Amino acid sequence: MSKAHTFKLGKFSCAVISDGASRTMSLAAVFPAVSKDDLHTAKDYFKISTDDVEVGYNVLFIDTGLQKVLIDTGLENGDLVQNLAEIGINAESIDTIFITHGDSDHVGGMLNFPNARFIFPTDAWTQWTNPESRQALNDQFIHLFANMRSKEQLEAMAQSREKHGAEILAAVKTRTNLIDIEYEAIPGIKFIAAPGHRSDHFAVEISSEDETLIHVVDSIRHPFQTNYAWPSFIDSFPEQIVETNKLLVGRILEKKARVMGAHFPFPALAKLSRQKDKLVWEWQA
Ligand SMILES: [Zn+2]
Repeated sequence: MSKAHTFKLGKFSCAVISDGASRTMSLAAVFPAVSKDDLHTAKDYFKISTDDVEVGYNVLFIDTGLQKVLIDTGLENGDLVQNLAEIGINAESIDTIFITHGDSDHVGGMLNFPNARFIFPTDAWTQWTNPESRQALNDQFIHLFANMRSKEQLEAMAQSREKHGAEILAAVKTRTNLIDIEYEAIPGIKFIAAPGHRSDHFAVEISSEDETLIHVVDSIRHPFQTNYAWPSFIDSFPEQIVETNKLLVGRILEKKARVMGAHFPFPALAKLSRQKDKLVWEWQA
């Protein structure tokens, strides 16, 4: 299977890079609060015949012509660096990285990019570097997994998050820029508000010429969430993510944007449109 999918967005040369192993879950596991009947109705609406959901791990690369940009860094020991190299991009050549939130599948690889400057929303940086709010971030995460992991695993997860906030961020502070949301740190690339998956979670909008891509990151994990007010199993703030997804869908439709999600099946790109009052989701190869 291909590990990198290249495409153009206006003048930007982009690639979705797989960070490694994908896995399969059932719809019932992704949406534990949704009844069988409602899942059936949603499958009909979106013309989806399978009960399996493929969960990918995908990172977006953008070459603007002036900068080589990543949105997130994948896992500490994932396949991102190797799969970038396979399309001729060395980790050393990445100069700018937008960080969308502090989960380990997004920030684990930060130190793999020695020459990059990191772009954080000011609010997210503050949440992670202040010990009290970091504890709150840790609590919202660990609480989710309380019934899914052993005590030792939960302990290890909490320690790795503490290390990220207290040590890794301190180590990269001198090569970090804090920006407001909706501000183009690089012409054509900006954070957009998307709280709910975590309180530090942001989406990213990328535009060049008249083309736009909205990277929803972890806000939308399945097409059903564009039409139904359904949080997934892994969202810390279920009511908030439903509001966020409503806003994201409105923005995607208004801008006729392409959509990318970090955990869609590779290559993780789709088109969402409204046809005769019905939302139509099409995966794009
Ligand atoms: Zn994720």
